[in-house]
Amino acid sequence: MTRFNYLEVEILDDPTTAPTLRSFIPVAPNSHFPIQNLPYGVFKPSSGGSARVGTAIGDQVLDLSVLEKKGFFSDTVLDELEHSVFDEPFLNAFMRLGRRAWKEAREQVSSLLRADNPLLRDDKETRRKAFYFQADVEMCLPVFTIDYTDFYSSKYHAFNVGMMFRGPENALQPNWLHLPVGYHGRASSLVVSGKDVRRPRGQILPSGSNDPILAPTMALDFELEMGAYVGIGNELGHPIPIEKARDHLFGMVLVNDWSARDLQRWEYVPLGPFLGKSFATSISPWVVTLDALEPFRVEGPLQDPEPLPYLRFEGKGAYDIHLEVAIQVRSMDQPHVLSRTNFKYLYWNVFQQVAHHSINGCNLQTGDLLASGTISGPTPDSLGCLLEITQNGKKPLILPNGETRRYLQDGDRVIMRGWCQGKGYRVGFGEVSCKILPAL
Ligand code: CA
Repeated sequence: MTRFNYLEVEILDDPTTAPTLRSFIPVAPNSHFPIQNLPYGVFKPSSGGSARVGTAIGDQVLDLSVLEKKGFFSDTVLDELEHSVFDEPFLNAFMRLGRRAWKEAREQVSSLLRADNPLLRDDKETRRKAFYFQADVEMCLPVFTIDYTDFYSSKYHAFNVGMMFRGPENALQPNWLHLPVGYHGRASSLVVSGKDVRRPRGQILPSGSNDPILAPTMALDFELEMGAYVGIGNELGHPIPIEKARDHLFGMVLVNDWSARDLQRWEYVPLGPFLGKSFATSISPWVVTLDALEPFRVEGPLQDPEPLPYLRFEGKGAYDIHLEVAIQVRSMDQPHVLSRTNFKYLYWNVFQQVAHHSINGCNLQTGDLLASGTISGPTPDSLGCLLEITQNGKKPLILPNGETRRYLQDGDRVIMRGWCQGKGYRVGFGEVSCKILPAL
């Protein structure tokens, strides 16, 4: 197999100028999946067959297990392996190979999809076997996750929530500006977009009462977040220095950290979130690599006071990712956008999260998910959860058809989208979209 060689720089485009890279698969300008993206996901063809790894291109999916079987990765690290990494039900085998393999595979897929490369373009038989329309596949959970951590890295969100509970003087706890606060979440209840979420039951303390009841939550909320997947872990006892953190991270997804506020309020003292969070956490199916996001890195907010040396980060630690959350209720045809925000507003960046998570020697593992915490921006139209938008139900949200919401009702669908905007193209995450089912 002859490899079609391109310089590394040619698989990325400068987002401030019109794109030069083009695929032989047609891609609309507002598609989240141009050749500049090439995210990884796991899918099953609707026509039958097992779960395998693919990449999204336009409105199609390219089955990477077919390319692997046919030797299209023969000049890459993948060729030295005795086993397949793409004919797998999760991305973990590929993630475990490390950054050189990720880079080589990405370069090869990019070159194979180029409009001016005849290798795959003119190979009718492989094209017939390897391409599916996205409408003809079922997307699966992409990564097997053993540990899920949820941070609390938006200063706007932490301040808004703290102000509701403790007033403006004490809104941020004394530790907040010194470390990325987080807690250990529940990995087993991570679900992929499209899997509906059942309203949980739990202990609630009715207002004015001293006696808790067991009931379905009356304060079901979403939290607009993003999550970073650990590709390569660290040995127990060996922290990851912040300048090495980038090498350990594989890619990112959208995260909806569903929250039952009434359960949370009653249970959280003194050890933090538990059953008010662990009933479900939804993610988008396509993992966008940090390599694809590289052109959209920007400076994060100024950190004052300066963090301890192990958390100091020089340069562009944030990513310019546009985010929006919409709600679709049964009586409306169209989703209604509730909020628009941006990942770049986060105070603590993902590299600082990795450095902090491992500073005590804790070993991160392939597939671990590090969620950002609710991403709120500086303005009232950029808040990332209903707790903030409705001020804990005090100011109900009014939908275009006159219906109101303090929190989510059964049948409501929450849709989150995210994308980086280049000039004339987008590197996007698609969406995480789930409907609320009534409590059992
Ligand atoms: Ca959260």
